Formats: sequence, C-alpha cells, structure tokens
Amino acid sequence: MPELPEVETVKKGLEDILVNKTIKGINLSGFSLRFPIPKNLVSLASGKKIVSIGRRSKYILFNLSENISLISHLGMSGNYRILSQEESKSYKAKKHDHIIFQFEDFKVVYNDPRRFGYIFITDKDPKDHRSIACLGPEPMSNNFNEAILAKSFYKKERPVKNALLDQTIISGLGNIYVCEALFRSKINPKKKIKQLVYSNGSAKNSLIILKNEINEVIKESILLGGSSLKDFSNTEGKMGYFQNTFSVYGREGELCVSKDCDQKIVRIVQSGRSTFYCPKCQK
Ligand SMILES: [Zn+2]
Repeated sequence: MPELPEVETVKKGLEDILVNKTIKGINLSGFSLRFPIPKNLVSLASGKKIVSIGRRSKYILFNLSENISLISHLGMSGNYRILSQEESKSYKAKKHDHIIFQFEDFKVVYNDPRRFGYIFITDKDPKDHRSIACLGPEPMSNNFNEAILAKSFYKKERPVKNALLDQTIISGLGNIYVCEALFRSKINPKKKIKQLVYSNGSAKNSLIILKNEINEVIKESILLGGSSLKDFSNTEGKMGYFQNTFSVYGREGELCVSKDCDQKIVRIVQSGRSTFYCPKCQK
C-alpha cells in the first residue's frame, strides 16, 4: 500500500509534467473504485487547467482553474502513468485503466487493479473536505512536534505501534515506516503510549527521539523514491529503492542489523497488522 513517501513520489512526478496543462477530456472505465467515480468528474474537470498539485497525507490534490479540486487516493494498488506523446497516440485502454486524462498531446492513465483507490471532486477548499479535515499533522511539517504527540499520548493505554497508525494523531504513516521508526528509536511496539509522556504531560526524551526518527525515515524514503513492494511504481513506471534499506520490515527470522546484537527479528500481529521488531534492541 503506498504510504506518504510513495504518494509524495507520485505527486512530484505528476507535478513536473502536468502543472499549467489543460485537461482536454477524461475517459472512464465505467467501473466503481472504492467509491463510485463522481458523476460530474468529466463535465467539471474537462477544459480546466491544472494550477498546482499538492499532497496532504496520502491524498494527491489537483488544484484546477475555477477553484475545482480533485482529491485522489491510491488505495492499495492505484498508480498514475504519464504516457509519452508517442505512446499516447496509439494507446488503447488496458485492463484496470479506470481514468484516462487527455491533454493536448499526451495522456495520463490512472490504473488500479484492486480498485481500493478513489477520487473526489470539490469546488470548495480541499482541506475542508471530509476526507482531509479530520487528519492529524504531517510528519516533517511545523505542526508535528513532541508536544502535540505528548498531548495525544497522555495517560493513554494504546500500544505505540497502533497509535502511530492512527491518522487522526499523525497522518500519512503506514505499517512500514512505523516499524522502521520504532526500531530506530529503540522503542518496543507494544509499549503503552502513556509511558512516553511524563505525569506533568511533557514529552520524555524517548518521545522526542521517536518524533525525530519518524521525520528522518520519511525524509530518507522520499529521497530514495519510496518503497516498491508489490504494486508501487512511480509515474514513469519505475520502482523506489527504500525497501533495500529496511532494518526490520519483512525481515522476520533474520539477524538484527544493530552492531553487537545477536537477536533475530520477530513478527507479531497488532490490530490485524504485522509488526516487525527486535526484542533485544527495542525496550
Ligand atoms: Zn537487535
């Protein structure tokens, strides 16, 4: 499932090519995605210029002229491909091509085999859209700091792994990056979040380290073009490289990468999701 770094990679790829281009037309497969494709998508977006492309959490925001915005979520297996002029000329829709955007001399294809992705259209500020208004702060943003985490974690019993996956606490993090950030912070994923906060409500040092490691792991992954597991590729159909640097994710039974540690990485299940960690390094 694409997480924040993968969505950022896709967003950058789209931004490089599509800003200031006008959508000439849109073809739909006729299939529903996770939600039905809005009935007015074709009529409202056609003829509009793409003014800018942004990202909030795992949503790609296409800001079009006349205050129209598209809010796109890639779900499990959604991807955008920008076809070259040459490819566009003779391109025939393939299986799972659900939305094809036509520009002056090229096409952009949204393909989604599992159809868990979705798209909304709005004429209001997309930040106020129901899918986005409830989201917690973004890693690497000014709004994300130890004080805001301490406030969410204060006197709460939840395991830290589950809390970090809660999009209302911090948005855009998924399983991979939570496992990796907890390993780097030497925090056991089962630890109760209240244990990272002092009784006066201020952040313990371990929580400050965790906040820093979350930012670091996201930053590194974006630099490497995200992680390619199963379905992810960028707008040119190329893979990211961050998966080659995983310390714990998907490494069950393999030796811990820490110097002087002889433990093997363990996999447990928390809230139905796999967690990978080193029981010796992560306390
Ligand atoms: Zn270890």
